[in-house]
Amino acid sequence: MSFPFPRGQNVTEEKMGEDFAKLHVCTRIQVSHAKPLENCDPVVVPIYQTTAYRFKTAAQWSEPNHGSNYCYQRCGNPTTENVEVIINEIEQGQGTLLYSSGLAAGTAVFLEFLDSKSHMICMIPIYSGTFTFFVDTLVRWGVEITFIDVDAEGDNLVQAVEKAMKPNTKLVFCEIFGNPTVSIPDVLGTIEVAHKHNAIYLIDTTFASPYIVQPIKFGADLVLHSCSKYLGGHTDIIGGCVTCRDEANWGRLKSQQLTTGSSMSPFDASLLARGIKTLAIRLDRISDNAMIVAQHLEKHPKVKWVKYPGLESHPGHKYANQMMSKFSGMMAFDVGTAEKATKLVENLRIIVHSISLGGTESKIEHPLSMSHGKQLITKGWPGTIPEGMLRFSIGLENPNDIIVDLDQALEKI
Ligand SMILES: *Cc1c(COP(=O)(O)O)cnc(C)c1O
Repeated sequence: MSFPFPRGQNVTEEKMGEDFAKLHVCTRIQVSHAKPLENCDPVVVPIYQTTAYRFKTAAQWSEPNHGSNYCYQRCGNPTTENVEVIINEIEQGQGTLLYSSGLAAGTAVFLEFLDSKSHMICMIPIYSGTFTFFVDTLVRWGVEITFIDVDAEGDNLVQAVEKAMKPNTKLVFCEIFGNPTVSIPDVLGTIEVAHKHNAIYLIDTTFASPYIVQPIKFGADLVLHSCSKYLGGHTDIIGGCVTCRDEANWGRLKSQQLTTGSSMSPFDASLLARGIKTLAIRLDRISDNAMIVAQHLEKHPKVKWVKYPGLESHPGHKYANQMMSKFSGMMAFDVGTAEKATKLVENLRIIVHSISLGGTESKIEHPLSMSHGKQLITKGWPGTIPEGMLRFSIGLENPNDIIVDLDQALEKI
């Protein structure tokens, strides 16, 4: 009787014929495996959870890319590459690489494009981990860094970057919305300055997501994301990515990744692929929710100020407007003192008091107590974190429920 779906074949049994039956059970466990799938094209790329791949011949090793692109997971994996293709399409780049974290992605770029003779311009504020890598590690390798405060420079930022340029300036770096004050640099203006001086422009667009803005269209050379935030979107993975405007830069980073071992695991890549499918719909709703909540907070008597990129009152709104029509879900607001700020977060009932951001749930933190706290200040953090400021990541809850939760907690301070 022949079944419409035949049973799986044991490749080793087919190869050995009658000799297979002589094998000890211990050996059979090791050598039995099903035929690799041919003429089979899963709708969703599955998790290829394998350390290494089988070779048919010894000569295959010397073929370009070992004949199949795959030999060892650190060097390439179908599940991971699938997501690299998707992110590259969103960013409109020439190649994307996935990393085991956002910091792994960032440090790969800084180590690849800077050396002991180079100078970097870094606009601040930035993610605290990136700053700590700069002052604890990168400077020990001789890299010279000039920090420029986006909040303090305001509309003079482009001139300040121009003035800081040196003959050996190799890289200019900023975040699309500076973490944690949600400052907005003049990206178009500073890209122009960087390129005039032959420096590479790297932008961390984690706070916006690649759905909201694609900086390569505007001339950025390298775009960085922590996939742990909006790209993953469900608060269940750590990951990072870099997308390149030039294939040559992608090649440099790919070669580096083979030996630094910073690639993403296929399991995380699979969750990331799933998260990205709803990126657009999540960011549409999150942006709408954030605008409603920001407008409410702006009118609240206990709130000194709100910085949301979509509000016209944000000093950098005009720069955001040049690149995007929706403004994502990150905002900062000030309630006056650190005591009031911590009391507020501790009295919330729906909004989660936690670090990280970009998930489906609303999250809030007091940066001076947590992400940008004492440790950073002792490392010489060059900016100012207002003591009564909170960093707020809006989620997918109903905006009226978010407002009710904020109002009841504001009442108590
Ligand atoms: C979280 C974050 C990072 C670091 O990413 P990890 O995935 O946590 O390593 C870098 N930049 C920004 C803006 C971030 O928010």
